[in-house]
Amino acid sequence: MNNIVIKKITLLCFIVLFIMLNSGLKANTIVNEAALQYVRLVLALGEHDEGYVDAYYGPQDLAEKAKSSKMSLKNIVIASKMIQDVIAEQTSNPENDWNELEELRLSYLKTQLSAVSSRALMLIGNVKYDFDQQSKALYDTLPPSKKLADFQPTLDKLNQLLPGDKPLIEKVTAFRQQFIIPKEKLSVVFDAAIKECRERTKKYIDLPENEDFTLEYVTDKPWSGYNWYKGKSFSLIQVNTELPIEISRAIDLGCHEGYPGHHTYNGLLEKNLYRALGWIEYSVYPLFSPQSLIAEGSANYGIEMAFPGNEKLQFEKKVLYPLAGISPKIANLYIQVNELTQQLTYAGNEVARQYLNQKIDAEKAQALLQKYALMNPEKAKQRVRFIDTYGAYVINYNWGKDLVKQWVESGSGKTQAERWKRFSQLLSSPRLPSTLN
Ligand SMILES: [Zn+2]
Repeated sequence: MNNIVIKKITLLCFIVLFIMLNSGLKANTIVNEAALQYVRLVLALGEHDEGYVDAYYGPQDLAEKAKSSKMSLKNIVIASKMIQDVIAEQTSNPENDWNELEELRLSYLKTQLSAVSSRALMLIGNVKYDFDQQSKALYDTLPPSKKLADFQPTLDKLNQLLPGDKPLIEKVTAFRQQFIIPKEKLSVVFDAAIKECRERTKKYIDLPENEDFTLEYVTDKPWSGYNWYKGKSFSLIQVNTELPIEISRAIDLGCHEGYPGHHTYNGLLEKNLYRALGWIEYSVYPLFSPQSLIAEGSANYGIEMAFPGNEKLQFEKKVLYPLAGISPKIANLYIQVNELTQQLTYAGNEVARQYLNQKIDAEKAQALLQKYALMNPEKAKQRVRFIDTYGAYVINYNWGKDLVKQWVESGSGKTQAERWKRFSQLLSSPRLPSTLN
């Protein structure tokens, strides 16, 4: 059978299913079928877009079928819209008495499917998405827009904190040198950091039984760390050692990639939604989708969940600095510099916005990242490579974190235990970015 015939049959299956779905089946069966089709579409899109399927641990035959049927991007768009219509109908049908979790499931599925068609349309290339359009279409949010000049007061504060007359970027780079973990100490420092992240998370979150991970050190990647979730509560965590790694990144990466970040999030989704409820849509994680904002936002907010107040600094001074052989004498100043630099990540978003909107070229983007986000030349180059690979995805880290923080801490004066409860609720339910604020 030639490819064209196979493509037509695949689309036909969707049309038949669409008609079938509207012919008297139980509402729950219809939604489960729609969820199955969503998984098929994500896998089909993954055949066109390397890296799109970030994790998949559902039935193997679905992955094989996606490979062999080679559904076209155009048909993915058509099928995705059909399934969205089916879900919309099930949502608005007054005869269906959905509970709160089921309602979340329906709107989650519909919005994830909408992101599937948007990503397919982007790959077809007829429609160009600017930075905000990408954010809305793929991540269900509109990040705030700022001017680069808005970051000048933060840059001025940093300039005052660090003595000397040299340009700020040079002062920051020289200052940071003192906190680089020697390569031969990376493993022992990371092991200690991630162990502590896990201990702290376990106190508040019921982690899946037998959950485990492997930590690997790699080079030549556009990111600094990555969690590859393999299913059955197992993750492969990779740390990119190409650029020097500073001491504060150990806990950041341990929390972000591991506990209570990606490894925990994926493990809870698998346990609570896929295994316990049989919701197959959670066996797949499409990277360019609203799910990524929740994933990255919760992973970054997870750092202050596990180490509230100055607990991160205390632990680093007591355990990690000695392990790395770094003097903790100016650790307090280092934290202040890091907190101010953190605010500059939004300048990074603005540079990404101008670059993706084709207002500036790669060289200018690198220069602006150095000036306003205080990245050294190598880091700025890595960041432009990241934007080339992942587009507006950068918003998921800082804007995602702020949205998650706002949602977890909403209402007055929450205790630490209450914040963990709400955080773990977020990690175990189908919530969308647009419902977080
Ligand atoms: Zn991440």
